[in-house]
Amino acid sequence: MDNNHFKDHVALVTGGASGIGLGIARKFVAAGATVIAVGRNKEKLQAAGSELGSRYIAEICDVTDEKRIMEISQFVRKSYGKLDVLVNNAGNARFVSPEQFDEKTFHFHFDVIVKGSMLFVKHFTPMLRESSNPSIINISSIAAGSNIIWPNHFLYSSAKLALEKYTQHLVRDLWGVRSNVIIPGLIDTPIWEAGLIEPLEGKSLSDTVNELLEAAKQTIPAGRIGVPDDIAECVLFLCSDQARYINGASIVIDGGMICSGLGLGL
Ligand code: NAD
Repeated sequence: MDNNHFKDHVALVTGGASGIGLGIARKFVAAGATVIAVGRNKEKLQAAGSELGSRYIAEICDVTDEKRIMEISQFVRKSYGKLDVLVNNAGNARFVSPEQFDEKTFHFHFDVIVKGSMLFVKHFTPMLRESSNPSIINISSIAAGSNIIWPNHFLYSSAKLALEKYTQHLVRDLWGVRSNVIIPGLIDTPIWEAGLIEPLEGKSLSDTVNELLEAAKQTIPAGRIGVPDDIAECVLFLCSDQARYINGASIVIDGGMICSGLGLGL
């Protein structure tokens, strides 16, 4: 993507201060866009802002907080008058047994992945309609696929599947706004050390995660774990002028893990 492809474009990325979201923000800024990065962690947002400069606008916001989302939408309306790209990327993952989950773990997944995405669409669609090429990208996961049933992962995978179905409804309901889903495989980001995995006995968390990802490479025909740029490149393409006829697509980016029939043996 050339340096100016997204000049004068405004993109909002939830969870835009780390991992995949930061990777997407970085690429958009490099391609000339202004990015509204939404996140909860002030330090991470500030660090990203120092790296990416004045076209990275950090907004502290819990994506489940509708009042705050409305404040940000008013800010974007006042400052830019439109939004070209909305990326619903924020997400959380924990392993929890169907017999032991509680309301908190339910909301931890569904409120962020499903409700949060729906709220951003609700409040930003009027501004997306002011764009000449409006685009919504929702970030799902291979965990939502019918051929991957990881144990005790039902809250995360069902919330992601709901996000995919919701995206199809957007294609029907938001005439003129393109909505597509990206389905990442295993991507090396902080999510793996954010409470998803328990350390193996006698090992640190980061050694445990490294061991798990190393073993997972055997199931990925591309021969490596993904990196945020693998996802970000596709997001930018889907939002570009070249992709104006791509609407309602679900794109798996997993190095061939699903197609090969292999899977992470959790
Ligand atoms: P990450 O932990 O770096 O990013 C997740 C971001 O979501 C964080 O910045 C976090 O602060 C933010 N977030 C969570 N709850 C929030 C809330 N209530 N309000 C605001 N922000 C909130 O991990 P990542 O891997 O970059 O995850 C990005 C997306 O990709 C997630 O939706 C995740 O489910 C999805 N995904 C990741 C992988 C992977 O292997 N890393 C695979 C498939 C899908």
